[in-house]
Amino acid sequence: MAVAEFRFYEELNDFLAPERRKRAFEHACARRATVKNAIESLGVPHTEVELILANRQSVDFSYIVRDGDHISVYPQFEALDVTPLLRVRGRPLRNTCFIADSHLGALAKYLRILGFDTLYRNDFSDREVVEIAAAERRVILSRDRGLLMHRAVTHGCFVRAVRPLAQIEEVLDRLDLHRAVQPFTRCLLCNQPLEVISREEASRRVPPETAQYYDDFRACRTCNRTYWPGSHYRRLSALLHRTANHSGT
Ligand SMILES: [Zn+2]
Repeated sequence: MAVAEFRFYEELNDFLAPERRKRAFEHACARRATVKNAIESLGVPHTEVELILANRQSVDFSYIVRDGDHISVYPQFEALDVTPLLRVRGRPLRNTCFIADSHLGALAKYLRILGFDTLYRNDFSDREVVEIAAAERRVILSRDRGLLMHRAVTHGCFVRAVRPLAQIEEVLDRLDLHRAVQPFTRCLLCNQPLEVISREEASRRVPPETAQYYDDFRACRTCNRTYWPGSHYRRLSALLHRTANHSGT
């Protein structure tokens, strides 16, 4: 057994038992425990961690905790400049395709509306979510920290907000995606890219007054749904306005 001192920073404290928050505390780790095991045994999913210092040296998840170690654990995109230090992940998280767990259907729809490839089904089991994420290199979105602690998970994002509009803002902020938003390029039902269609084709798909009034029509070739600025655009203008403000354009 190794007794080490741990200190978690910023929002990682939310995952800890109250008496361990925002202070250094001693924790007894199992013999030969990796720092990843130790962190997760304290309740913090490894997907939320960006940087670990052991005795002021950056280490990766496989580091074996030793007796008397001082371990500092930092979240992703902590304001602290960590560029000279080793991060815990070899490849960047900036993979913008997602899989949402079965409780985040509304968030999945918003992400699709903003153009992000987001798999979602309300009957996905946790195991399916983990397997698909690993096979397709998708970032898992979940409010279930147990799911994010699964061994096979590499990239995940614990969603704190409860309301879908707050959730979409949180995900865009945390993964720095405001500039990657491409509204109405993806079907919100099928997650398939939309195809721009001619007004002539649109006129066979939408009411005559709509075909006359709008110029920009898109279609999903999977479900055959037609999109135009008056349909879903308007309903979500508040969301788009908010994300546009963030991107500074
Ligand atoms: Zn579709």
